[in-house]
Amino acid sequence: MNIVLLGPPGAGKGTLAALLKKELDVPHISTGDIFRSNIKNGTELGKKVQGILASGSLVPDEVTIEMVRARLGEDDTASGYILDGFPRTIRQAEALDEMDEIDAVINFVLDDEEVVKRLSGRRLAPSTGRIYHIITNPPKKEGFDDETGEPLIQRDDDKPEAIRHRLDVYREETAPLIGYYRGKGRIIDIDAAPAPEEVLKAVLAALKA
Ligand code: ADP
Repeated sequence: MNIVLLGPPGAGKGTLAALLKKELDVPHISTGDIFRSNIKNGTELGKKVQGILASGSLVPDEVTIEMVRARLGEDDTASGYILDGFPRTIRQAEALDEMDEIDAVINFVLDDEEVVKRLSGRRLAPSTGRIYHIITNPPKKEGFDDETGEPLIQRDDDKPEAIRHRLDVYREETAPLIGYYRGKGRIIDIDAAPAPEEVLKAVLAALKA
């Protein structure tokens, strides 16, 4: 099953994808994670996109589309995948339509106030990408990962200036995709406000139906 996760930054796409991946046994492909790992490893791509990510703007479509095309060409996608963070523009959606058939688009619905709360409290374990929130999902020991014990970090683009910019970018570039996929009859709207396990249940029920 080929699934696209759509919704504003901070709606919980990454968290849900990690849970859904276990249920469906298909890879979780996050364009944000791929960019961040390139930045961490100092690749050419990483150098090119570092400033763009820090500011919360979008990486140019050509770059992102080719990266996804290469990733979807790998063997582990044969029985499906969960795409998280792609497509983010109409042009990317059109390119994806040419690459593959998408079975379901899950649209996470969450208001701006909640988005800002979630993003500003988000912390990450840099080596695994494991996600915490300082209030709603804190680690056992403040500031450190439960598993590896490494210090947690805050993403540059989770700082207030960048959060506001990402919300603007989402509204202008990405929200139009809701209409695009609704027109194709493949959208499932999911309330992203409840706890992750609740959201997972709702998604699984909707996928079965
Ligand atoms: P978010 O928490 O905003 O959903 P992601 O981890 O998905 O964050 O993406 C982080 C950043 O990576 C984006 O702000 C953007 O700079 C870049 N990025 C990720 N996916 C795309 C995409 N499909 N097109 C362009 N840029 C992207």
